[in-house]
Amino acid sequence: MESIESVIKAHIKAHGPMDMGAFMAIALGHPKLGYYITRDPLGAGGDFTTAPEISQLFGEMIGLCIADAWLRAGACPLVHLVELGPGRGTLMADLLRATRRVPAFHESLAIHLVETSPVLRARQADTLAGFKPRWHDSIDTLPIEAPLLVVANEFFDALPVRQAVMTTKGWMERVVGLEGDTLTLGLHKAAFTFPALKEGAVIEFAPIRDAMTAQLAQRIATQGGMMLAIDYGHDAPQPVGDTLQAMHKHIFCGVLEHIGDADLTSHVDFAQMRRVAAEAGCTVYGSTTQKNFLEALGIRLRAEKLRDPHVLAGAERLLDHVGMGQLFRVIAITSGSFSPVGFEIP
Ligand code: SAH
Repeated sequence: MESIESVIKAHIKAHGPMDMGAFMAIALGHPKLGYYITRDPLGAGGDFTTAPEISQLFGEMIGLCIADAWLRAGACPLVHLVELGPGRGTLMADLLRATRRVPAFHESLAIHLVETSPVLRARQADTLAGFKPRWHDSIDTLPIEAPLLVVANEFFDALPVRQAVMTTKGWMERVVGLEGDTLTLGLHKAAFTFPALKEGAVIEFAPIRDAMTAQLAQRIATQGGMMLAIDYGHDAPQPVGDTLQAMHKHIFCGVLEHIGDADLTSHVDFAQMRRVAAEAGCTVYGSTTQKNFLEALGIRLRAEKLRDPHVLAGAERLLDHVGMGQLFRVIAITSGSFSPVGFEIP
């Protein structure tokens, strides 16, 4: 059978070394062999776990923020609730359960799932049976009328990222090339330039992530609504360097190891996301840390009310100030007609 490595090698033989974004796009998204296309990567038996899989409280708090935004924006009788990369559908199920008593909210919702993986689509169909979701291959086919309420947890980190490296010869681009029959990392003449930095400095840029953010923000600016994006990342004025990482069975590995069987992600640059969304005409809140966001929404009260040691332990993991609570950040991109909860300065 054709392997994903042979696809990448053939591509390099035909077109020359490929940038890290092109490599990520094939390794994760190749229509037959891509990492996300061929499996459910989540949970103990997979490669990584995510906040909704750790605790039901995560989706519940997102639900509160989303339903509150709907109310504050005027309780529109039709709104499109969109999730990007919904995984097993757990976040959406928890969100819907937590909001079922908000008068008229569920009646107003049309549910859309943007998902490329057939394996995960099947899981989502099971989890969300009864809610009649509609699936999309990309954001292009989302409805162009009525407000959008978009949720994306650990979605933007999976989109292709490219890397510029400062060398004595100026900016170069990190690429995957071939030495004999072996894939290797190398540097290639760059088609771009950035202001000079110290030798060895790395700048990451993600044209596909930027384009998708811009497209969603333009839609929100004209149709109304909000996007809530949660991811690991940074919100700094300076570039933070190389954050591209590969993970296989819950252990970090090299980006050229386990190709097609390892998750590849990079940290999301929230400062860049804010710039792109603001340019598209949106009002942006945050980013703030996941800890501040979830605490502002009352996660601790909810956890105590449930009186379940497993729920309490899950909440602590989401809020951990040396772990997920601090590393993960939340941004709200809105049409500007209301302010969302969760972004007050604590
Ligand atoms: N949000 C889920 C899953 C995160 S994993 C959770 O928090 O548990 C990333 C998800 O994004 C998976 O569902 C994956 O199949 C999907 N995905 C990755 N790249 C995508 C793309 N380009 N378009 C649509 N979905 C994508």
